[in-house]
Amino acid sequence: MIRPLLSIALGTLLLASVGCRSDATRSGRVFLIGLDGATWDLLDPMLDAGKMPNLAGLIAEGTRAPLESLVPTKSPALWTTIATGKSFEKHGINDFTEVTFDDGTKNMRVMHMTSNMRTTKALWNIVEGDRGRTAFVGWWVSYPAEPVDGYVVSSRVPLSQSGGKDAPTKGILTADGAGAQTWPRELYDDIVPLIRPAENVAYEEAARFMDLTQDELGRDIVEGFRWAYAADETYRKVADLLLTRDPDIDLWGLYFNGIDVVSHRYWQYLEPSRYPNVNPAEIPRFRAVIERYYEYTDELLGDILARRRPGDTFLVVSDHGFHAHGHKDGPAGIFVAAGTNIEPGAELPPVELVDVTPTVLALLNLPEAEDMDGRVLDELLTPAWRDAYPRRRVPTYDTEEWLEARDHTPIPSGADEELMERLQALGYMN
Ligand SMILES: [Zn+2]
Repeated sequence: MIRPLLSIALGTLLLASVGCRSDATRSGRVFLIGLDGATWDLLDPMLDAGKMPNLAGLIAEGTRAPLESLVPTKSPALWTTIATGKSFEKHGINDFTEVTFDDGTKNMRVMHMTSNMRTTKALWNIVEGDRGRTAFVGWWVSYPAEPVDGYVVSSRVPLSQSGGKDAPTKGILTADGAGAQTWPRELYDDIVPLIRPAENVAYEEAARFMDLTQDELGRDIVEGFRWAYAADETYRKVADLLLTRDPDIDLWGLYFNGIDVVSHRYWQYLEPSRYPNVNPAEIPRFRAVIERYYEYTDELLGDILARRRPGDTFLVVSDHGFHAHGHKDGPAGIFVAAGTNIEPGAELPPVELVDVTPTVLALLNLPEAEDMDGRVLDELLTPAWRDAYPRRRVPTYDTEEWLEARDHTPIPSGADEELMERLQALGYMN
């Protein structure tokens, strides 16, 4: 109800703040919000029906486009491309895992890919010092958390399974590797009370998404939902903590995984004609899970937008879309941009994953790098912004010193086995 008034007020403030801007090296804050697996196919009818008010508000104010994905559609690789502006080959994260051989025994081991294996800088490495500060929360392949100018809360936050030590996946921090899960390290102690164990997701919470009995809370089919919801609730609270504690951070990278997880689990009830084994009696009970999860995700977006200040820019992206039988062939994801420096209604061709990082840099008034594979989405930027801040380029952000300091051997954690089980159970891996 108060949205139009608020927009007018913000618009007025924005004009004022642009008009008297004196610091030519600083833009407003940029929020890069990741919704894994979100697709326009489901969003469009929901937007039309008024079920995604926060996303609809951003689209109405700014613009939208399909975001072309890459094959193979592996989330760690795609989200690393989004955060580096580079192809899988250039950044080195091409899968969930890497097969290694123990030196002594020559035994094969499957290791989860870790942040040190990335062979180029990500946004959280680039935006530091004079370039600004970052907070990245839950982003893929951010474990172990790297030292940054700001905060990293890694993709593994302990969702503590029963008994609770070794509980990892994206969305899970582990107790054994507590020192590696956040930057700064001591932030971990503040995060622990915010961690939502999947087994604590209550019947009342699940009942919002599906028609189930109390006894069914432990069923396999409900488990995927509880993992997703617990992880998103955890990162929602972490984001809120950081936004409260240090609101002046220049670049926010906030990632939510739940849409992808529930799409894997529940698409069979949404499109049962494509799944011969689905139990017809259960279709009406689980059919709405995905749509309700989109609605819930819109509330997460609302939490972030409630923190909005004049000058902020928002990019909402998904790494790929989704359809029956998963995302094997890389259906398009979503791209939404809105905020101070975004031209309302800007017409965009399909955006590529590699365009996100150069565009984020431009919105922070930082140079794009010539070794990035994408481009700045100039069409997005207001003429005023383009005039005030002409584009600049640097050859690369990767210094010899930084590259040489990296050891690309996967780093084990006590959570590896459970993470693998979870990824397999969710259908990400065979
Ligand atoms: Zn994904």
